[in-house]
Amino acid sequence: MPGPYFAGQQPSPCGHYYPDVLRVRDEKKPDGTLVRILDCSYCGRYEIPLEPQGLHRALLRKLNKNGFDVGSREDELAEIRQKELKRLSSLTEGQEKALRQLRAILEEAIKSNADAVEFEYVEKGLEVTYVYGHSGVGYVLEDRALESGIIQLIVERAGLQDRSRGVMTWTYGKKSYQIKVEEYDCFGESAFRLILRKARRKRA
Ligand SMILES: [Zn+2]
Repeated sequence: MPGPYFAGQQPSPCGHYYPDVLRVRDEKKPDGTLVRILDCSYCGRYEIPLEPQGLHRALLRKLNKNGFDVGSREDELAEIRQKELKRLSSLTEGQEKALRQLRAILEEAIKSNADAVEFEYVEKGLEVTYVYGHSGVGYVLEDRALESGIIQLIVERAGLQDRSRGVMTWTYGKKSYQIKVEEYDCFGESAFRLILRKARRKRA
């Protein structure tokens, strides 16, 4: 069975992985339901229902306005698969550096029992904040390539290309963590919250 193509990659509903499975288009049906049409090299074409809550607002707006949104073009599917497979199999030096940094950030968060880690762009760079209850401790990364590499990794691993919420599987020590990832808007820029555990509730 081919894939996963990187550690922790989540399979598509048929059990195969991106880029074997590509999004062809999303559609709004006459009865108002939203569906995603996927094309799998092994299973062929199939349709899955889409939950409007998790979708990017821009995508939802487009579906409501035009009735559809094209993902990968039909005549380019083979080419996209080939290109993406090549890209995924050859991590560049910069991507490896980003992976090491993200791993270090998540290890620190797990070791220190953080509830979440937030990534927000600020004037100087990318601010990384470890959240503990109502307080946070953070620092700013000032390396453009590294910052975008980290964000790209988060988007890819949590499957946020067209959704604003996802789950990223992360292995640390002998444990595998299911990290919930939320993309949110922070002064017009995308920011990301990686949730390691449920917020601690105050007892009454
Ligand atoms: Zn399949």
